[in-house]
Amino acid sequence: MISVDTKTTFFRPFSGGIHPRSYKSLTAKSSSQRSVLMPEKLYFSLQLPNGEMLRPLVAVGDNVVKGQKIAVGKSPMHAPLHASANGQVVEIVSHITSHPGKLKSPTIVVATSNDLSWSSDYHSRSIATLTSDEIIAGILDAGIVGLGGAGFPTGMKAKFARQSKVDTLVINGGECEPYLTCDDRLMQEQSAQIIAGIRLLMIAAGAKKALVGIEDNKPLSLESMTNAASEDPSIEVHSVPSLYPMGSERHLIKALTGQQVPLGGLASDIGILVNNVATAHAIYQALRYGRPLVSRLITVSGQGIHQPCNVEVPIGTRVRDVIAFCGGLNMDCERLIFGGPMMGQVITDLDIPVGKTVGGILALTSEEIGDSESKECIRCGQCVRACPMGLMPFMIAANSRASEFEKAEELGVKHCLSCGACSYICPSRLPLVQYFQHAKGVLNQRSSAVQRAERAKQLAAAKTARLEAEAQAKLAAKEAKAKRGGRSAGRRSSRKAVEAKEGDV
Ligand code: SF4
Ligand code: SF4
Repeated sequence: MISVDTKTTFFRPFSGGIHPRSYKSLTAKSSSQRSVLMPEKLYFSLQLPNGEMLRPLVAVGDNVVKGQKIAVGKSPMHAPLHASANGQVVEIVSHITSHPGKLKSPTIVVATSNDLSWSSDYHSRSIATLTSDEIIAGILDAGIVGLGGAGFPTGMKAKFARQSKVDTLVINGGECEPYLTCDDRLMQEQSAQIIAGIRLLMIAAGAKKALVGIEDNKPLSLESMTNAASEDPSIEVHSVPSLYPMGSERHLIKALTGQQVPLGGLASDIGILVNNVATAHAIYQALRYGRPLVSRLITVSGQGIHQPCNVEVPIGTRVRDVIAFCGGLNMDCERLIFGGPMMGQVITDLDIPVGKTVGGILALTSEEIGDSESKECIRCGQCVRACPMGLMPFMIAANSRASEFEKAEELGVKHCLSCGACSYICPSRLPLVQYFQHAKGVLNQRSSAVQRAERAKQLAAAKTARLEAEAQAKLAAKEAKAKRGGRSAGRRSSRKAVEAKEGDV
């Protein structure tokens, strides 16, 4: 029996943080291995979250097989899309996306067949001798992005980490958002595959060791992952305190290593690469079985849905199909959210397809949402105590409300994680994060305008310098020509004089 490492390196590893009500019991026992969700149609948006467009590789009427690449981007920074089912392309239409402004984008619509199998191309293969370059190429080709929510192409992240010479891989098994349990279930049920994926990621990034951080409210995951990693001394599994927002990259690093990521800096600045457990699992699937990222385990929860559960959702499934699979919404459902309740995004339309970065769909009742009527700030200071970044949320909010954005910047609004701990704890129910997001948006716009003006100034100066250089070059050429002309005229007159003299003789 392998003992679980319950030593927590730092009892309270960072200042601030909160203990929100977890609601995890709603789905904590829901296995990922239940019946398969496969809707009649899948919707693959060609627009990436960063606004870049993919180019479709298929046309209406084409048959596609599960795992077939159906759209690609212009560079490795744009993860390709793969069909998540066997079927036929029936339309390429403008369809709603998860953008808060309800924007639409060109979308490939696939009518699925009853055949749920992978095509025969996807066979098991050896991964023992793969090089860093081969692993990175495999991850990029499989369209894997950070499944913890960031959505950055994982292969590029590993490549940059290798270039920055990172030595430690930190694996996030925190899952600190309330309600979400899909990573917990994945760690309990697929720990060997996750550990194998971590090894591949270590080779890809050139990391010497890996530290896996799991919150201490997940004892079964801790045990399963510790057992799976027991043969490999370069992978350590650690228990970290259940404290929101432990899943934030900088706070997990602090908890596991004691090191601080510099403000405004990156984890790679201190030799660390961070990924999450679901991403490591997807890497193993891609490299071992040649299976690209076509589905992911998500938590569907909240008291507004009939059958809360964890379910493997094919990428491109509409929210309405996921909800129908989970028994539908009940009469008390007030709000739908992608992700967790602290940092999630409101779902504005049931036809939005589930993308690669969605880890949860929550159907919340008014009781779960709580009183949403804001009152005046009573200067109780609870938000200050809760903030894991050491900020003064009530002062930033007051300045943001008064459109004093420079003061909000001086108070550190740009370092705010939008974790929502302050809003959660505020007795006056002030929508603090909304104020901060607005202030950040205005400041970003201003700094882009300043950057654009600076760029325009540089271009104008470069143009003036070029015109001056051209004018000088022309002048110099003219002068040189004039000199040459003068010299040859002189030579001609000397010759004439000599000829005249010779004539005299
Ligand atoms: S917690 Fe709310 S009421 Fe208290 S100081 Fe902060 S913003 Fe004001
Ligand atoms: S949302 Fe920002 S200000 Fe509020 S607690 Fe989190 S980091 Fe601090």
